Amino acid sequence: MTSRVAIVTGAARGIGAGVAKRLGEDGHDVAVVDLDEASCAETVAAIEATGRRALAVGADVSDEAAVEAAVARVAETLGAPTILVNNAGVLRDNLLFKMSMADWQTVMNVHLGGAFLMSRATQRFMTEANFGRIVNLSSTSALGNRGQANYSAAKAGLQGFTKTLAIELGRFGVTVNAIAPGFIVTAMTQATADRIGVPFEQFERAIVNNIPVQRAGQPEDIANAVSFFADERSGFVSGQVLYVAGGPTN
Ligand code: NAP
Repeated sequence: MTSRVAIVTGAARGIGAGVAKRLGEDGHDVAVVDLDEASCAETVAAIEATGRRALAVGADVSDEAAVEAAVARVAETLGAPTILVNNAGVLRDNLLFKMSMADWQTVMNVHLGGAFLMSRATQRFMTEANFGRIVNLSSTSALGNRGQANYSAAKAGLQGFTKTLAIELGRFGVTVNAIAPGFIVTAMTQATADRIGVPFEQFERAIVNNIPVQRAGQPEDIANAVSFFADERSGFVSGQVLYVAGGPTN
């Protein structure tokens, strides 16, 4: 398989770190983008240990100028990025009547705005190469989840965004797909348990009881799906949403 340059956002930890490491194992060089450049060190070291090049880039994906600068730096240092994983995300959960405009806006800006800015900044490298892979992180919350009006709207929005980019970019050899994870053990799910005041083990047990495969997901489960979409042999798969949730979803 041809070695490419990949960008993974929110890759300092959690799902993004798992995805970045897997793309390194798959033979790609990887730009590890996160808010704080120093926090990317562990992911970068893990990729370099596999013999691939990696670059830590500090950038807020919701900031237009920061995104443009980050993508330019990746192109200069590693080469033209032709794989993009829009993974950076935040939660600002609350019931509708308590949700502030700021919490609504933050979630929209990071998930939807971030995916838009990163995709726009990288598409020119993909169309020039006549090859590209964009993978967006949606969520089972796109189907509706109490306390997540902002997050579920953004994650459902990402599915429409995915299908539209697939239509626009297909003629340039660029596929665009989305992965909608269910419950994955990361700092984000830990934060949800903390917010509702339940010990994580108890929170996890209750959720796992309702997952057909009877276990929680791990970042590697999502990384495996990203690896499939990023593979050059997956060029006829585009505009799809793959639920990776240990069972069917509604
Ligand atoms: P996580 O552990 O909270 O990691 C998210 C990473 O994104 C963090 O390193 C965070 O940096 C970074 N980030 C946040 N805002 C950013 C911004 N504006 N610019 C750049 N980086 C930013 O979350 P995760 O569980 O791995 O989730 C990764 C993705 O999967 C998210 O899109 C999430 O919505 C989605 N997802 C997760 C689950 C799950 O069960 N975990 C389920 C469905 C979907 P800081 O640490 O500095 O904030």
